[in-house]
Amino acid sequence: MDIPDLKAWKSETYVRPRAAQNLEEEIQIFLSDTDLDTASAYHNFFGKPLELVVTMFEINPFGCSEDLMFMPRLCFAYYIHSYMEYLRSPQAKGDSDAANCFFSLVKIRAEDFRKFCREPALDTLKILAAGQEWFDAPIDIYGSFPERAASCAELLNAKTATASAPTRDAPMSKRKKLDTASIDYRHFVEHPRYGREPRITGLNPVFHHWHSDQNGRVANTAIAANLSRQKPATIAMSHYFDQKRICVDCKRPFLFFAEEQKFWYEDLGFGLESQCMRCCDCRKIDQQHQAAHKRYLELCEKPERTTEEDLEWLEESCALYQAGRLGEKSKHKALHILNKLEKSPEINRARWEKCRRILKP
Ligand SMILES: [Zn+2]
Repeated sequence: MDIPDLKAWKSETYVRPRAAQNLEEEIQIFLSDTDLDTASAYHNFFGKPLELVVTMFEINPFGCSEDLMFMPRLCFAYYIHSYMEYLRSPQAKGDSDAANCFFSLVKIRAEDFRKFCREPALDTLKILAAGQEWFDAPIDIYGSFPERAASCAELLNAKTATASAPTRDAPMSKRKKLDTASIDYRHFVEHPRYGREPRITGLNPVFHHWHSDQNGRVANTAIAANLSRQKPATIAMSHYFDQKRICVDCKRPFLFFAEEQKFWYEDLGFGLESQCMRCCDCRKIDQQHQAAHKRYLELCEKPERTTEEDLEWLEESCALYQAGRLGEKSKHKALHILNKLEKSPEINRARWEKCRRILKP
């Protein structure tokens, strides 16, 4: 099969009859008459051989699979093989999003898969079904790969068409479903301001930045950055995307929202290298611990503490001890103060007792 030519790219667009003097003009006329999705696919794929496109999937699986979703059938029939080849290659290890997008693509273009590449697609689905761990796709974020592969295989084996070819100029509400339907965000930690689900903006620029984990990026959620407000970096970040993350403390999935990033990097003045490791619940707890630690150190350095300050110091110690942030030596110091305060007549018994239960359960 040959690399699709301009005729193949024009095959599903009604191009108004206008005289073109040369190839360049012919392309311009086609691009001005076709829809944005086809134009984007054309820009990214036109004239490229399969081997080259395979490497493009490694850099931007979201963008490439979306282009495949909307390109003309004749082009899809050719380029779909690069996607499957990428998924079968060692380079796809850990690329949960490339795997995830493939399921969505099968659902949306089932008819074309059946017509052009049923057997290789079924083989690819087998690899995905067995590769939940290999693709590093937590089941609570991506759902069960064996189950999703089975339902896709069913679609490919079906004799009658149950899914239709992609619609041209799909409205944004439909686009939103294409991108997010396959991920169950109900398990994500809820953000008090932004909620659990990605915030679709429809903006999906193709770019590469080492501070922005491309596998965690949610397609179509980009917002533009104000580069003049970012802390100077070797390479500025032109856009922020909602990012899927796993919290280092509670291990639950959460979204680091594009709006939050804008706030971090433009209002708070954080460097682009500072990353959000914790969900908002754990971040709050973390901040409380940091405040406790600060107060603890302040009181440690105070030469003569009152009984009330001793008790406060004891409480901060207990909070840090419970959070696993107090060493054994500091715990002994806390126990010493606990015993000292026990004999003090003016002490608040309830607060003291609470500390005792933590240190001497
Ligand atoms: Zn957490």
